[in-house]
Amino acid sequence: MLRTRFPVPTQKDDPSEAQIVSHRLMLRGGLVRQASAGIYSWLPLGFRVLKKIEAIVRAEQNAAGAVEVLMPTIQAADLWKTSGRYEDYGLEMLRITDRHEREMLYGPTNEEQICEIAAEFLKSYRDLPKNLYHIQWKFRDELRPRFGVMRGREFLMKDNYSFDVDEAAARLSYHRMFLAYLRTFQALGLTSIPVRAESGPIGGDMSHEFVILADTGESGVFCDRGLLDQPVPGPVYDDPEALQEIVDRWTGPYAATDDMHEPARFEREVPDSKRVEARGIEVGHVFYFGTKYSEKLGVLVDLPDGSRVPVQMGSYGVGVSRLVGAIIEACHDERGMLWPAPVAPFQVGLANLRQNDPACAESASAMYDSLTAAGVEVLYDDREERAGTKLADLDLLGFPWQVVVGPRGVARGVVELRARATGESAEVTPEDALQRIQGA
Ligand code: ATP
Ligand code: MG
Repeated sequence: MLRTRFPVPTQKDDPSEAQIVSHRLMLRGGLVRQASAGIYSWLPLGFRVLKKIEAIVRAEQNAAGAVEVLMPTIQAADLWKTSGRYEDYGLEMLRITDRHEREMLYGPTNEEQICEIAAEFLKSYRDLPKNLYHIQWKFRDELRPRFGVMRGREFLMKDNYSFDVDEAAARLSYHRMFLAYLRTFQALGLTSIPVRAESGPIGGDMSHEFVILADTGESGVFCDRGLLDQPVPGPVYDDPEALQEIVDRWTGPYAATDDMHEPARFEREVPDSKRVEARGIEVGHVFYFGTKYSEKLGVLVDLPDGSRVPVQMGSYGVGVSRLVGAIIEACHDERGMLWPAPVAPFQVGLANLRQNDPACAESASAMYDSLTAAGVEVLYDDREERAGTKLADLDLLGFPWQVVVGPRGVARGVVELRARATGESAEVTPEDALQRIQGA
């Protein structure tokens, strides 16, 4: 991609409205633009990251046996009156009236909507289990939208809903999603920790929040260091015993907690060297809530003995747009962002330091062509800008690799190849640069 065609409105100075580093860097790097409080437009660079996160989340949902659908953002208020949540949700819900005076709302979540859909095709125990997900915008009129996309009002969430015949089967669905979340966050380049959670307004009796550690996290987390070092298991979704073991390993006696009463126990039981007290950002949440919604919304199945029972449900959310900010919170330095390769908007930033020098322009565009032909995603800064500006932008935007073309190197047939995260740099031939980037 040519920078002259791909708008990245970078800013040199810190925007005054941003309190935390991810918000500052997303505005300075031209990833998003605020449209109104807690509502953002996704500019080309931010949109690429969002789509990459979405694709990784989707791949692991599919691997875990969930099936994708797409429900609307606008829902009928009647559904929520039936579940009893229309009043409960209070001021966080954005209520809308259409031209026929029908009450509508912008969905903050989709338990009611999915029940209405599932009631159409769940008739018998033979129709179970099912697990449906979608990746769709939500709206919650947060009291204090802040920290950019981390606590927005409009935000993108992957949410799914499991339907099972009994509690044992529902637990298995929960365990599958538990593993899917561990694997998803790892694939994004993050270490996640499941924390036992209160289930809040959704209600229910089994719930974990998945947090990633970062200084600006909104909640305190206490855990045993061993929890952070455990290898994330393979996709053993069809092995109930292995799944149970995995959940036990991450939720055992020294599992993470944000309970204010637990630190004392921690200090007694976990050796100093292994005790982690940190801040966490919630990036995912899993709930098991039984028949709370299926009963009220009439999602019932026939059992072999002829009786009819409401199905057992769970719901599971990942904050896709929050993750863009959360990844930056976890991965940055004083010069800018440091994208983990799986979610980097481009793998390579190519800068031509002397755009109006024909030899440099020729060398840079040859480098661009060979990277592109090899399928490497590269943003080529082909603007007529000062060298210092281009180099500062490369560091700010944080693509894993930087290739710098300048007149002195071109004279000797070399380019400068730099790894953004480590700062390591080498003068290599363009062929070598390509090979090293492909080999990484
Ligand atoms: P929080 O405690 O942060 O308000 P929540 O418990 O209300 O989160 P859930 O209803 O569990 O959130 O939503 C699932 C996921 O959606 C959360 O884990 C989070 O990653 C994301 N999320 C929730 N609210 C927001 C928001 N206002 N902006 C961006 N992402 C959000
Ligand atoms: Mg909330």
